[in-house]
Parts: sequence; C-alpha cells; structure tokens
Amino acid sequence: MALPKIKYVRAFTATGGGADYHDQTGAHWIDDHIATPMSRYPEYRESRRSFGINVLGTLVVEIEADDGTIGFAVTTGGEPACYIVEKHLARFLEGRNPADYEKIWDQMYFSTQYYGRKGLVVNAISGVDLALWDLLGKLRGEPVHQLLGGPVRDELQFYATGARPDVAKELGFIGGKMPLHHGPAEGLEGLHKNVAMLADMRAKVGDDFWLMYDCWMALDVDYATRLAIACHEHGLKWLEEAISPDDYWGYAELKRNVPKGMLVTTGEHEATRWGFRMLLEMDCCDIIQPDVGWCGGVTELLKISALADAKGKMVVPHGSSVYSYHFVITRHNSPFAEFLMMHPGPTEVVPMFAPQLLGEPVPVNGRIKASQLDKPGFGVELNRDVPLNRPYTH
Ligand SMILES: [Mg+2]
Repeated sequence: MALPKIKYVRAFTATGGGADYHDQTGAHWIDDHIATPMSRYPEYRESRRSFGINVLGTLVVEIEADDGTIGFAVTTGGEPACYIVEKHLARFLEGRNPADYEKIWDQMYFSTQYYGRKGLVVNAISGVDLALWDLLGKLRGEPVHQLLGGPVRDELQFYATGARPDVAKELGFIGGKMPLHHGPAEGLEGLHKNVAMLADMRAKVGDDFWLMYDCWMALDVDYATRLAIACHEHGLKWLEEAISPDDYWGYAELKRNVPKGMLVTTGEHEATRWGFRMLLEMDCCDIIQPDVGWCGGVTELLKISALADAKGKMVVPHGSSVYSYHFVITRHNSPFAEFLMMHPGPTEVVPMFAPQLLGEPVPVNGRIKASQLDKPGFGVELNRDVPLNRPYTH
C-alpha cells in the first residue's frame, strides 16, 4: 500500500533544556565543576557553560506528509543544524516515500561527506532520520520499536546518571554514574578527591549497587589508568569516555591497562558505522554508547549495533530519551539503558528532555514497561508551550 509522500521538511531551534540538556539555567549538578578537556584552563574549569557547552541549543525537525501527518524529532545542533537541514538535506526527502529511509540516509550522508562525517552534520542527519522514523510509525500506526522488530523484553531497566547515586538506588535504578569533577590539571590532590568521592558514595550505597564514573573526554591515558587502579577497590564498574574520542590508540591502551573486571566504555561522541568500527576493531572498549541523536539516527544505529553484536559487545546508548528506549527494547545486546537525571538535585525523576516533549515516559522503580512505548512513532508530541524559531526556509 502506497504511503503519502513527504511534502515539507522544516527545522527549528529551541533553548532552555530539552534535547540540548546542557542548556540549563541556575545551579544544576550537570554544570558543577565537571572535569572536561577545557579544565586545563582555570577560567573554564568551574562551568561548562563558560566555554559554550550550550551554545548550539536544540534542533527540532518536522517532516510533513501529503496527508498532513507530521513526524518530528529533537536533538542538538541549533541554528547551524537548521541551515543544513533546510538548505541541504530537505531536497533528499521532499517528494519521496517516507519508507525509503535507507536511500534517504545514504544520500544525506554522502552529499555532505565533503564537509560532514561527524559532529554537527551527523547531528542534523540524525534529527532528520529520527523524524522520518517518527513519521513512518505514525503513518503505519505502529511504534518505532515494532518497525525495528519488536520488543525482546517486557521492560527496560535503567541506570541513572547524576550526582546522587544514593538517591538513584532508593528510586529503583540498577546503578549510578557520576560525573568526574577533577581533571589532570588539578594534580594529585584532584585525583585523591575523585577517589574519595567514589569511596564515600560506595559507603552510602553498599557493595552491590553499580557505580560508574563519566570522564567526559577530560583525561589522558596515564591519569585514567591511575584513576582506574585507585578506584578498583571501591568497586568502580566502568570508566566512561576517559580520553579524547579521536584517540582510538589511547582507548586500546587504557582497556589493556585497567584492572580485570573493570569496563571501559565510550562512544557518545562517536558517529556512524565507520567510527564505531574503529572502536570495535581496535578493541577500545567493552561497551559502546552511541547517542541516537548524534550517531546518525536509528537507520545508522541498526548497522552500528549489528557490528557490535557480532563482536560480542554491548550497545548501551547515551541518553537520547525515547529515541534510545524504542531501540534498546528491541535488542538483546542492549540489556539496559541510561537515564539522565535532569532534576537539578538530582533527587527526583523528571523527563529527560523536559520541557520539550509531551508524553515522554519516565522510569518508575528504575523501569519502563514495553507497553508504555505502544504509541505510533516515538509516542511523544512537541510541547507547543516551548517557543520554536525557524531561522531558515527553503
Ligand atoms: Mg557520558
């Protein structure tokens, strides 16, 4: 049966949380002296907003079909991504069949390859791809997870990312991942503080609760190795994104260096099957963590996930809310998922992309039932109370 064709593609920006979850105001654990590659400069050490982590804002892509059905998605990329979507990518969708996601993805990627390949351009491609899957689900009256083969489990199980794993444990999560606060520029004193914070949290949560550290690309191999060894006795489950995503050789070395039983994870700033092939073939990590809104969207994640599955590696997507939930529930090599605690404390569960989406499911007792995802497309709507700006048209 023929589907209505794609009529319009539109791209908007929004600010104040949402998909650009770093775009917060006021005191928030997500911007509280977190170690970053910019921490070597004292003037950018206190706050990630100080070096511009929230400068792009959210990208909202809408794809409207001939019959008026609208699919949409949100990711990061803001105004420059709007330009790419409107002026470049839209031509590969308008007038086409929304079921042709393979050809559309291929044309979006290879037409931008001369200035794209990773980062902003692939964020924009991801946003379009996710909006296309949302539209396809709405046109077929099926949730995206059904289009991907259907759930392999009855529920999703989550670990929580935030400054309060002790609270996350009480809320029913299976683990807690904390941001690392001190980088190599803060010397041995900073290293001791990092270890002490883990030890303190271990004392609060007991032996069996997972604790992890997210290093947001801030370290070097030597520092990461010493941190891993010092954290081993406090039961650190994994060390995440310890060094630059470009340093595949460093990740391979780090993975050889960490104590047996500790996992090395990375990939939230990696993109496409080719980027993840490097991580997998060079044996850089134990778990890959693609962000569904940054790695190329669902169309590309299917390929990344298949590669990882054949290598016996887990795929545990970074954040990405419903875009991750609909994928993870369909894959055995994605046995659990991440939940970003976006409450400033964080002492309560709030929707990850609040206030941008309506109907965004949240974990209860650390879990979301597959049946909560049984709505067409990704099952969420745009909150029209959040102002949208369309900076370009075509
Ligand atoms: Mg991370």
